[in-house]
Amino acid sequence: MDIRLTAEHERFRDTVRRFLDTALDDQLRQAARNCPGIFQDYATNIRWHRILYEQGWVAPSWPQRFGGTGWDLLQRHIWTTEASLAGAPGLAPMGLGMCGPTLIGHGTPEQQAYYLPRILSGEDYWCQGYSEPGSGSDLASLSLRADIDGGDYVLNGTKIWTTHAHHANRMFALVRTDATRKPQQGITFLLLDMDTPGIAVEPILFASGTHEVNQVFFDNVRVPRSNRVGAENDGWTVAKYLLEFERGGGGSARMQTALTRLKAFAAQTPNGVASLADDPVFADKLARAEVDLTAIQYTEFRILAALAQGGSPGPESSILKNLSADMGQRLSELTLEAIGYYGAVHQPNARRVGSNVNPIGPPAGVTAFPHYFNYRASSIAGGSNEVQKNIVAKLVLGL
Ligand SMILES: Cc1cc2nc3c(=O)[nH]c(=O)nc-3n(C[C@H](O)[C@H](O)[C@H](O)COP(=O)(O)OP(=O)(O)OC[C@H]3O[C@@H](n4cnc5c(N)ncnc54)[C@H](O)[C@@H]3O)c2cc1C
Repeated sequence: MDIRLTAEHERFRDTVRRFLDTALDDQLRQAARNCPGIFQDYATNIRWHRILYEQGWVAPSWPQRFGGTGWDLLQRHIWTTEASLAGAPGLAPMGLGMCGPTLIGHGTPEQQAYYLPRILSGEDYWCQGYSEPGSGSDLASLSLRADIDGGDYVLNGTKIWTTHAHHANRMFALVRTDATRKPQQGITFLLLDMDTPGIAVEPILFASGTHEVNQVFFDNVRVPRSNRVGAENDGWTVAKYLLEFERGGGGSARMQTALTRLKAFAAQTPNGVASLADDPVFADKLARAEVDLTAIQYTEFRILAALAQGGSPGPESSILKNLSADMGQRLSELTLEAIGYYGAVHQPNARRVGSNVNPIGPPAGVTAFPHYFNYRASSIAGGSNEVQKNIVAKLVLGL
């Protein structure tokens, strides 16, 4: 794979840099840098989303006819790398990265015409109603009931671990429309408004103290049958298609930036007479992380290449999901190890440590611990590592 930039790509990179220089103000950069969780806070996310929408750059991976940028693979790579290096906030994936591509693949023309522009503009903010208590890895066992009553489904039951349900005005959900068949054959994929009477959202707080996920309760919630995506009882097909996008979302550019910052931090962190970067054990861990991260980046390119040809990410997305989850955790562990040399969890004034400028910046001590805790979840959310390995064994390796 050749990722050398042509002169045209270099010009594109300069355009991107100029845009980022002016579009990213201090508030956005600070909020991104101080973000303790996996997801950016809603207010920052939506502000950045709208700036990118105005620029026409909010959905680079979508086909151009639906509002994508028409960028080639390298341009997309340049964009994610530069945005990450410039310290841009991340965007929530539920609308742009999951529901949007699924509607493009499986929605009716009416659903596409109504929902896609609202996802692009940021008018709609989505959450994902898949998991239930007792139905996570074994998702097909889900039991939230949807009974038909005239032109509506009537929903009763609960969803759990619903990320940002407390901000979302829309949910895509899997519901049980037939309990008499094989579990996979009685599921339907629905779109619903979060302000429909009968929906209650209850927070679940993480050990780190942050609020990202919720439990959502449904008590006789009426959803028009026209809000179904795909055929009734064939929601499993749509659900699996969406999961490929969820798992193939990548994120190697952000991890690359985190590693670059960690290396700079280690180089300025005193460790006896030399710096932490000179410590052979720590240097070995950094080097191994760098090699593995390069492999992840190339895996991501392969998936992007499939998308660029109009395909879906395929079951190979589970490889990326698994490796990325492990890498996010490793980087959070290494950061914690490096921060440990300062011996303090909370260092609001840590930009200067002794005479050294701390290149991770003030939040290093503040976010290292929440990051460490929150990234434990990355090998569970979106399907656990063990489940991804089962998928790879079956669908990629054919075992
Ligand atoms: C931070 C976070 C955010 C989330 N956001 C959302 C969201 O927005 N929407 C949503 O619908 N869900 C969300 N989830 C839920 C997530 O999809 C589930 O937690 C995940 O699928 C695992 O399900 P479970 O928690 O029920 O664990 P279980 O399925 O009970 O698994 C427990 C353990 O058993 C292992 N295991 C289970 N089955 C097998 C098997 N066949 N082979 C080998 N090992 C197995 C698992 O790997 C795991 O280690 C989120 C979860 C987290 C942690």
